[in-house]
Amino acid sequence: MDEGVRRAAGRQGAALFLAAGIITLLEIPLKTGSGGLPVAPALTGLIAVVGGVVTWLLPWHRWSGRALLVPATGALVLIWSGNAFGDPDPYTYSIYFVVLFAWLGLSQPRGTALLVAVPAAVAYVTPLFSSRLHDPSAWPTVFVAVPVCVLVSETISRAVARLGASRDLDARRVGDLEAIVGAAALLQAESDPNELGPMLARVATSILHGQEAVVLLEDGHGGRLTAGTHAGDNSTVTLPPLDAVDEALREGHPVHHADTLVVPLRGASGVLGAVAVRFAPGTVLDSFSFHAAQLFGSQAGLALEQQRAIEQLTVEALEDPLTRVGNRRRGAALLKALEPNDAVVLIDLDQFKLVNDTAGHAAGDRVLVMLGDYLREAARDADAIARYGGEEFLLVLRAAGDSAAGAINRLLDGWRDLRPLTTFSAGVAVHRAGRSPAATLGRADAALYRAKRSGRDRVCQDAAEETV
Ligand code: GH3
Ligand code: MG
Ligand code: MG
Repeated sequence: MDEGVRRAAGRQGAALFLAAGIITLLEIPLKTGSGGLPVAPALTGLIAVVGGVVTWLLPWHRWSGRALLVPATGALVLIWSGNAFGDPDPYTYSIYFVVLFAWLGLSQPRGTALLVAVPAAVAYVTPLFSSRLHDPSAWPTVFVAVPVCVLVSETISRAVARLGASRDLDARRVGDLEAIVGAAALLQAESDPNELGPMLARVATSILHGQEAVVLLEDGHGGRLTAGTHAGDNSTVTLPPLDAVDEALREGHPVHHADTLVVPLRGASGVLGAVAVRFAPGTVLDSFSFHAAQLFGSQAGLALEQQRAIEQLTVEALEDPLTRVGNRRRGAALLKALEPNDAVVLIDLDQFKLVNDTAGHAAGDRVLVMLGDYLREAARDADAIARYGGEEFLLVLRAAGDSAAGAINRLLDGWRDLRPLTTFSAGVAVHRAGRSPAATLGRADAALYRAKRSGRDRVCQDAAEETV
């Protein structure tokens, strides 16, 4: 019982005391004519009202729920004394017992009524013998009254327990749904593609109340790769049953197999993979768990898709679609990051206009693709190549220094060996400390111009250095 429930139970008890006291007091004028003793009911009524006020004011929320047995005992004593010393009506004799037991049902755990049944039976029977006004022959009615009281009380406490359990379940489910929504934001905020898999496994384990999880993603070539695992308390994770994974990926809905639930990760474009969550042996998964898992799978799938789209856009933003080397934006970034002793190389295809004019634009494109492939393969660092203009490429050779011109000459030799439709010319300039990247690029451009002017199909170095 939480604090709020204990406070409410205390207030209910207080209200019952007050109501019983007021009714007892109001009954006095009606009953004085019948020859009864008005002092006893008046006293009983007053004690009940005072007891009600005190019960109302006491901090029941701070005490254990069992503390409410104290006012319950007080109520029993009051009912007993009211009957023993007053003039009870045979028609209402057992009503206060029923009311007391109903309240016990509301405020106490199941089984309490059985404990209170014995003192209640004593309180019920003794006044029938103790007063000359009562009828001792009525005592067998205790066998009806007390069982009815117990039945009422137990029925109510059973219903209250069931309500409490379903409220707890609702609260847990609301918590689970909130966690899924929160996880979606968390997954979407993860920008490192290598981190998303492990995070997905971790979040799935926690949200679906599992023990461990494995994230499997389609690799785009008909295979699957493990993108992340979360081992929980274990040191290693058990791989999920492949049949279940196949079925979840094929059908697009969660598949339960032994202690594992395989949840497909569905994006807008289809199923991208699955997360397999392993549960403690014997865990029962209800339909809510399935739906929560499905919702999680969709959220995670969308996050995954979004991250892939961003990755794709990032690549596309820096890549030349024809030659698949960097584009001019990538070239600008390369220049900005120049370090002293890096060599800047500008490569320009010779008489390329002529190639287009004689062999056609498509053949010209093929030469550009061929040069892109060649440079990518030959270069140490494929990221340091960019198509800087129509048929012009920029290379940055990190820390190449004066060896750059020789390396580019070998590159030109290799190109010639491929017997392309045309050769290229190159200008090389080594970046020096205190010089701007633009100045170094200008020197490479000037060297390229000299290579063109001196007959093409050659490599020229920055005029400040020597012509190779
Ligand atoms: P040079 O040896 O002096 O560099 O002569 P060039 O003909 O190579 O130089 P020019 O600047 O006169 O011509 C460059 C040509 O490159 C003109 C243009 O049509 C062609 N070009 C630029 N981009 C592309 C492209 O993407 N595909 C094709 N096929 N041709 C292109
Ligand atoms: Mg050109
Ligand atoms: Mg050219």
